[in-house]
Amino acid sequence: MKALIKKGLGAENIGLDDIKSPIIKENQLKVKVHATGICGTDVHIVEDEYPADYPVVLGHEYSGYVEEVGDNVANFKKGDRVVSHTAAVTCGGCYYCKHGLLMLCTDRKSIGSGVNGAFAEYVAIPAELAYKVPENISMDEAALSEPLACIVRSVIERATVKAGDNVIVSGPGTIGLLTLQVAQASGGNVVVVGTTQDKSRLKLALELGAKDTIVVDDEKDREKLKSVMGTYDVAFECSGAAPSADNCLHLLKKTGLYVQVGLYGKKIEFDHDLALMKEINITNSYASEPTSWARALQLLEAGQVNVRPLISNKLPLEEWKKGFEIVMNKEGYKVLLDPHSTK
Ligand SMILES: [Zn+2]
Ligand SMILES: [Zn+2]
Repeated sequence: MKALIKKGLGAENIGLDDIKSPIIKENQLKVKVHATGICGTDVHIVEDEYPADYPVVLGHEYSGYVEEVGDNVANFKKGDRVVSHTAAVTCGGCYYCKHGLLMLCTDRKSIGSGVNGAFAEYVAIPAELAYKVPENISMDEAALSEPLACIVRSVIERATVKAGDNVIVSGPGTIGLLTLQVAQASGGNVVVVGTTQDKSRLKLALELGAKDTIVVDDEKDREKLKSVMGTYDVAFECSGAAPSADNCLHLLKKTGLYVQVGLYGKKIEFDHDLALMKEINITNSYASEPTSWARALQLLEAGQVNVRPLISNKLPLEEWKKGFEIVMNKEGYKVLLDPHSTK
């Protein structure tokens, strides 16, 4: 089968290959991949900024159809529409596993970095990590369940947004626009912050319900930015850019909540003295946990989160390079790759 594999360190070590279709174990499902989204994490892996066990098929944000069911799996059948949590291998016995914190298990291997992922025609996953896709959600939309589950983890499980809270979302990429919607579903009044490069993204943020937007490097918004400094209850840093983190710290009111969502890919400077003097609470989130998924699918099913406008491109897997370029150049939102299309 076709698969996008990274064979080792170095961006030159990635490419399409023909590999054996996965053979499943008794507790697994073999899933025919419908579509897989390109994630910032995939870009970090390509650029050697995120650990992976090589060689590995990349891709963890997918939807697909059950093709084959392991002998010990009772609750799935061929043809079921599924998505899944990514922690394919965990020890099952450590403190974190026992507390449902699969991502923190030292032995954890995720699909698309530790074990073969979903930029391929088929992927093997543990059935206990799979979720059926509600009927009213299309399979393209379902491919965004993973990033949405990460945002549920961040906004609902790690942070708290109370009804009426004034919320900043800094960085209006796919992750920021999902954060906007989940924070709104929790009752927050959300203002989205970006740069002049982000103008079309900020426009989409307004269409998705943001109360306002601020362009930090635009002369016209300078006064607006000044007037709202120190007024927000919660700030979600979604861009993984150091100036954005600093901005969030200044925008928060004293005792506000700072939430790190974006990944920087390197060490950054952060003004902890300022955070201390404002008694800012600081938290963060790492991917998603099984608890995040049911809520994510519920938000989609109920129409409280709309991921359709976030799907900007769908390309055959062969055009993976073009897809990654679109993501790296910030030309689109979520780019989906379809391993079964040849067009
Ligand atoms: Zn992802
Ligand atoms: Zn464990």
